[in-house]
Amino acid sequence: MRIQRHLIFTSLCLAFVLPGFANAAMSDEPTFQAGAAMSNITPPIGSNQTGRSSKRQATHVHDELHARCLVLDDGQSKLALVVCDLRHISAEVVVNAKQIIQQSTGIPPECVLVSATHTHTSSGAKLEDREGQPYYDYRAFLTRRIADGVQRAVNQLQPARIGWGVAEEPTQVFNRRWFLMPSRGTIYGAHDNIEQVDTNPGYSGLLRPAGPVDPQITFLAVQSTAGKPIALLASYGLHYVGGVPANTISADYFAIFADRVGELLGADRHQDPPFVGIMANGTSGDVNNLARYSEEELKKRGPQPKKRYQPFEKAREVAHLCAEKVMQEHKTLKWHDHVKLSSVQRTLTFERRYPTEEEVTWAEAVKAKKIKPMSTSRYSTYRTVLAYASPEMPPTIDVVVQTHRIGDLAVAAMPFEVFAEIGLELKQRSSIQPLMNISIANGSHGYLPTPGQHRLGGYETWIGVNKVQLDASEKMVDALVEMLSGLNAKGQ
Ligand SMILES: [Zn+2]
Repeated sequence: MRIQRHLIFTSLCLAFVLPGFANAAMSDEPTFQAGAAMSNITPPIGSNQTGRSSKRQATHVHDELHARCLVLDDGQSKLALVVCDLRHISAEVVVNAKQIIQQSTGIPPECVLVSATHTHTSSGAKLEDREGQPYYDYRAFLTRRIADGVQRAVNQLQPARIGWGVAEEPTQVFNRRWFLMPSRGTIYGAHDNIEQVDTNPGYSGLLRPAGPVDPQITFLAVQSTAGKPIALLASYGLHYVGGVPANTISADYFAIFADRVGELLGADRHQDPPFVGIMANGTSGDVNNLARYSEEELKKRGPQPKKRYQPFEKAREVAHLCAEKVMQEHKTLKWHDHVKLSSVQRTLTFERRYPTEEEVTWAEAVKAKKIKPMSTSRYSTYRTVLAYASPEMPPTIDVVVQTHRIGDLAVAAMPFEVFAEIGLELKQRSSIQPLMNISIANGSHGYLPTPGQHRLGGYETWIGVNKVQLDASEKMVDALVEMLSGLNAKGQ
């Protein structure tokens, strides 16, 4: 392993004021302001819908996809938080959107966070990453719509109060990686290697989960000085819910939460400006909504009810539960008339992951049809192994990580599908409490397991879906903890 080149650059959001009628320029006390807006980012029917398989085309839109934007302004600097109803977000789209945002609003890139919810029924990265199509360039459209959303949120800045809190919903998050009972037999990995854990292993013969879950829903709320809700941004460590019919575009439970929390807050559908609810993805790389229990736990629980859910029913159930839990905490929020904002961004350079000799030997044998992969139910990754062995692949991957301070709330943004235990460690080590984790932010570079989880194996640890050096999570957590301490010092 080459040593990671740390700290390519560190940038701080420094004093920055746009002249504007809304600024309390005459008064000594800076005015805290907030504005929010949503841009529709739904792709056209007929576009590739990558959530279920690579070839399915969307034939229906159940609910529109949005880029949900919240801008905060402490009188000196602004912070823009954008969450898109997408499965992934490409670093290139984010960079381009941030460039337009800087030109149109003056907000520098390190003070803009753009993430994807990870709804599996969006257009997904494939469409987004594809070169301009003759009839439609979704990438260009998406870039523009994200920038428009931030511009509109800035246009709607108004004096505001802010509060934050932490709710818990432990019943809807399940670690999806399991050690199995010996009766389940050997677990084969991507290249017929023997692994210790299996991802989404069915519902019987389960021994114990391979990792924890994070039950917290961390949120921040802003309202006008008259008490009218402006926006609420939450983050929960749940991959997605699903239950969406085939070929259908939907923003999943994330959008239902956003609507529901507005209803519970009493936001008028026709208020001006409209309320914006937002649910971001926390650290959920190994956590989904499928209730799995160990054999021991099943014995204690007795026979499980076998409920058949109608389309969208489960997503509604999860969203409503989360919104209710957030509302309970919301009742006890301490409101602040002014908080300071600060941001620190770094670019970390990771060595890209290389296949082992054993993996290459296996891949070459499969390619030459000397062996057949053990199980046809697992997709063969021999092409991926050979691609990653190629000297033509760039040797490093640059990733952007961010920390933001909003009063005594901190936000950590990571461009991976981050395992829950990584988010929990960050929360534990953060010098600012509480910490809101947002993953698939400012880019999307595959799953991020810990070195320990790499040793256990399982789908998320396979080369291709994991792209960076095996100890990248440790390097990233250390960097983020340091950056959080930097914010702490700045906030004094
Ligand atoms: Zn995923």
